[in-house]
Amino acid sequence: DKKVYMFDEGNSGMKEILGGKGANLAEMTNIGLPVPYGFTISSKACNDYYDSGKRIQEEVKAEILASLARLEAQTGKELGSTVNPLLVSVRSGSVFSMPGMMDTVLNLGMNDQTVEAVARLTNNPRFAYDSYRRFIQMFSNVVLEIDVFYFEQQLEKIREAKGYHSDPELSAEDWKEVISTYKQIVKKHTKEDFPQDPMQQLFLSINAVFDSWNNQRAIVYRQLNKIPSHYGTAVNIQSMVFGNMGEDSGTGVAFTRNPSTGESLLYGEYLINAQGEDVVAGIRTPNPIQTLQQDMPQVFEQFIEVCRRLEEHYQDMQDIEFTVEHGELFILQTRNGKRTAQAALRIAVEMVEEGVISKKEAILRVEPEQLNQLLHRRIDDKFEKIILAKGLPASPGAATGRVVFDPDEAEQLNNEGEKVILVRTETTPDDIHGIHAAQGVVTSRGGMTSHAAVVARGMGKSCICGCEALKIDMQLQQFQVGETIVKRLDTITIDGGTGEIIIGEIPMIDPELSKEFELLLSWADEERTLDVRANADNPKDAKKALEFGAEGIGLCRTEHMFMEADRVPIVQQMILAETEEQRKLALAKLLPMQESDYEGIFEAMQGLPVTIRLLDPPLHEFLPDKEHLAVEVAKLQITNPGSKELAEKEKLLKRVRQLDESNPMLGHRGVRLGISFPEIYQMQAEAIFNTAALLESKGITVIPEIMIPLVGHVNELKIMRQLVIDTAAAVQAKTGVQIDYTVGTMIEVPRAALTADEIATEADFFSFGTNDLTQTTFGYSRDDAEGKFLKDYVENKILTDNPFAVLDQAGVGELIKTGIKLGKQTKPALKTGICGEHGGETSSIEFCCLQGLDYVSCSPYRVPLARLAAAQAAI
Ligand code: ADP
Ligand code: MG
Ligand code: MG
Repeated sequence: DKKVYMFDEGNSGMKEILGGKGANLAEMTNIGLPVPYGFTISSKACNDYYDSGKRIQEEVKAEILASLARLEAQTGKELGSTVNPLLVSVRSGSVFSMPGMMDTVLNLGMNDQTVEAVARLTNNPRFAYDSYRRFIQMFSNVVLEIDVFYFEQQLEKIREAKGYHSDPELSAEDWKEVISTYKQIVKKHTKEDFPQDPMQQLFLSINAVFDSWNNQRAIVYRQLNKIPSHYGTAVNIQSMVFGNMGEDSGTGVAFTRNPSTGESLLYGEYLINAQGEDVVAGIRTPNPIQTLQQDMPQVFEQFIEVCRRLEEHYQDMQDIEFTVEHGELFILQTRNGKRTAQAALRIAVEMVEEGVISKKEAILRVEPEQLNQLLHRRIDDKFEKIILAKGLPASPGAATGRVVFDPDEAEQLNNEGEKVILVRTETTPDDIHGIHAAQGVVTSRGGMTSHAAVVARGMGKSCICGCEALKIDMQLQQFQVGETIVKRLDTITIDGGTGEIIIGEIPMIDPELSKEFELLLSWADEERTLDVRANADNPKDAKKALEFGAEGIGLCRTEHMFMEADRVPIVQQMILAETEEQRKLALAKLLPMQESDYEGIFEAMQGLPVTIRLLDPPLHEFLPDKEHLAVEVAKLQITNPGSKELAEKEKLLKRVRQLDESNPMLGHRGVRLGISFPEIYQMQAEAIFNTAALLESKGITVIPEIMIPLVGHVNELKIMRQLVIDTAAAVQAKTGVQIDYTVGTMIEVPRAALTADEIATEADFFSFGTNDLTQTTFGYSRDDAEGKFLKDYVENKILTDNPFAVLDQAGVGELIKTGIKLGKQTKPALKTGICGEHGGETSSIEFCCLQGLDYVSCSPYRVPLARLAAAQAAI
């Protein structure tokens, strides 16, 4: 079976085999765009390479040689020829775009002889030697693994000795001198001469590109982006075109629309007399694409036309690499451009309006997770801000943090819970862990398509780049703007939408949602079958949830209401009560407080269902810490023996010790509390019904759904349900107001799921509490698991995901299926939903949709995401 394809043999549908870059190079070749000739070694060959102990198989070698011969015929050039040498690039490219994570070698085929031929043929020795030294540097870095630092240091030395300020000042003779010192560096590091045989250069480079699939940064990138590691990378061998041939040459990158805002305007940048990586590497700050119109009017016209065709062809915003050689345009890459959430929304909506894509397609175009970016807070303009400097607004969003210059430190501080802003002259793929850990990134060099900008936009971090006013001093760990010095760990605020760097912390406010946001979500609402509710414990969250489009509250946790400062003493009284009488006294004080809690929420949610879970956590959570209390008692015994305070504290300590549990997660909590202290649940139900009756009498519709937590046996629910019904009847009798309510339960222990047919006889609804259900199914206590071993489990692939973040479909999911099936067997109209953290996670939402649940419930800020994910699941 074939492992190597000429560009004219492939197409964009072959990404799995040819990688994204190769497949699109093939597609562009076929639609007649000016793509330099070349061929692609498939990612299957990469897998073979690894399977055969990192060796290229003989058949594949033969295919490569045959393809090379065809490339030589197409170009009329020959690898290693001293008359008309072929020079090629060796480019990585996997099925998922991993920009800059893997390796590429340019100008391959250069050696001491061919460089002379290139000099002669181009009549441009300066160019020839510059290209040769670039090749030595890149090949040495990628293949021989010699740090570029050594080469840069050497170049710097020579530049200084000659009094030059920039590379274009070096002559052919100067570059020759650089080359000979470069060769010495290679000799010193490898104990061998720089390889002169182009065929050897080629195969070593192919191996190196295969190897780069497993370099550290590629592995980290795949982990962050959940890209499986079995795909492997393809390798593209492509004949070189040169942007460094003089003032009529250049290289650049452009997006067919603005990847930051989504505006439909060509957006990009280029450098005259430069080669490939110079633009992305951020070594020089490039010119905006618009000035190309003056520099090279014809090329610009042609390029605009290419952009139009590519966007029309792919029906999506494209990210395009191009090079101009002596006024001739070549296209070197195209892909669907990475974009911010804001841009994703605007582009999707505008493409529908332009008639390019359907509404359904638009819904599928936006990554639900990305929506979170739009809900980021922004700087409150009411406050005065001291603007230190302004750079390029490369990725929107505001962020505050402490300045760090080192990506490792960024990661470390982030782990310690600090917010940081990473400041660098430029970033490289080795810095991604630091970018990931930071709230935002600032660079002093590089443009809007530089590495930092692309990566930050991909991650939804705010980013300012090319802020040249920033003089960064790595030695002193500080940067300076004019007279102002900002030191490591000083706090700054950055606004990636305006490019402003601001001293100190600035208050932030909630974002305004764009009209595209509302529109796309309204399209999503038409498609989805699943209802989306929110988890909210107070009127403020309830209002937020409504604003984001929630259709009810799926989980209102009442314990948070008990934890407010003014209530804790009363809650403690209730817990410390020695008799039922005493307990009822305390509960009577809590009753009006609970009523006011519910009133706010019911009012906010007028007419929408509100699921209220009765008290769930073990009582000792409301009492002071045992250790702490014991110390206080000991102190009082010395300082104030016989005091009333001491007596009270001793009593408290005794009760705390009584309530202490060795396994609180599985202890006296949930419905078990309701069984032991029915007066607590009774008070809660009374508060709910009193409030409902009050509001109903004012004409406000209230739909309370009372939920009993942690039920494992139908008898538990039976008793509690009766309690709720009796309480409702009493309130209705007292107030004369008819209240529509339901009583249901959370399914969060395996036994409940397995006996759901019995439990359904006492329940109007089931809400799968997948946080606890995951704990009880795996037998993991979440707090211990996440801190201690889960990370290892995921890293070592024992588990594919953290089951508390992504629903475990094989285990927990199976229990949910059983629960639904058995429950509906008893009660076909049984309402079902989920209310764990999973209710706001894309793949879990898809699962819920497939299982026919009625709703998911998630935190207010994830409601938009859930609406979109539910629509995608339904399409
Ligand atoms: P990456 O995946 O990191 O973007 P690429 O394979 O796209 O790596 O190559 C890096 C740079 O080299 C790009 O700017 C690209 O345009 C340039 N380049 C690659 N192949 C050629 C070629 N045959 N001729 C000229 N420039 C090239
Ligand atoms: Mg590229
Ligand atoms: Mg629970």
